[in-house]
Amino acid sequence: MCCSYVSRMPKPGETIEGHKFEVGFGGKGANQCIMAAKLGATTAMIARVGDDTFGSSTIENFKENGVDISKVMVTSNISTGVAPIIVNDEGENSIVIVSGANKLLSIDDVKAAGNMMSNAKVVACQLEIPLESVYAALKTAKEFGAKTILNTAPANKDLDVSIFKFVDILCLNETETEIMTGLAVSNVDEAKKSACILAEKGPEYVLITLGKQGAVIAGKDGKPPVHVEGVSVKAVDTTGAGDAFVGSIAYFMAKHPQLLFAEIVKRSCHVAAVSVCRKGTQKSYPSAEDLPKDLF
Ligand code: ATP
Repeated sequence: MCCSYVSRMPKPGETIEGHKFEVGFGGKGANQCIMAAKLGATTAMIARVGDDTFGSSTIENFKENGVDISKVMVTSNISTGVAPIIVNDEGENSIVIVSGANKLLSIDDVKAAGNMMSNAKVVACQLEIPLESVYAALKTAKEFGAKTILNTAPANKDLDVSIFKFVDILCLNETETEIMTGLAVSNVDEAKKSACILAEKGPEYVLITLGKQGAVIAGKDGKPPVHVEGVSVKAVDTTGAGDAFVGSIAYFMAKHPQLLFAEIVKRSCHVAAVSVCRKGTQKSYPSAEDLPKDLF
């Protein structure tokens, strides 16, 4: 969320001078929601922020992007979830995540947003809030007939895979896949193998993202897994590419529910590839007008 650029990492107790400081918006749910909104989706967030400047600027940012904030609740006496980052000249980073108000998003909060979910075509969840609230959101969304996406980021070993029966699209990157399956994912074939294993656990489709190599899809229909190639671009900053990808999947699923899933993935790879050609996270996300018309 805020990033300090330094020539080297400070040692404990040391104060050093940085050469640049930037503030951007996050976390994962917000990024995915903003991506979908920029493509033209009608969007809403269910979230908690603290009553601090990060909370108010986060709400302002949602408003500017046309996101419905009626279920973004402000909580007293706790900070907004933040992730201050330090990046050194070698491009290495140190990140401190403080969940703050995120960890107070309760099952009751999710249930109170039932009306909102009853109008949704797609509900996307991530793992930056308590797991029981994620489970409640997935179950509620399914009850109302929405399609569900579960992006298992950041990885959480306590995730109960029995929830996958409420998941239409399970989306994860290589590292998250390795943590979930215990199997290495260093190439397309290994990703296909892991995707098939996870597809047996209940989701309609498993989608493993592979950076510039695109993504692989395995369905619970047992058909052979498919590799959707990434779009070849000159990447300058891949931060937030995963969220651009998930937000795009949500958008295309809502806009074109009849499209083959592989085509939805292909179009989402295109949007995510555009995002890596620009610096920043949300500010690197393209709007519909920045993209070829035939993508829509
Ligand atoms: P992050 O944590 O940085 O947001 P991630 O690990 O969750 O990313 P990735 O697998 O790196 O997700 O990327 C998601 C998608 O973004 C990929 O499936 C691909 O479509 C696109 N993408 C990422 N990096 C590149 C790249 N260098 N060139 C083209 N497309 C890319």
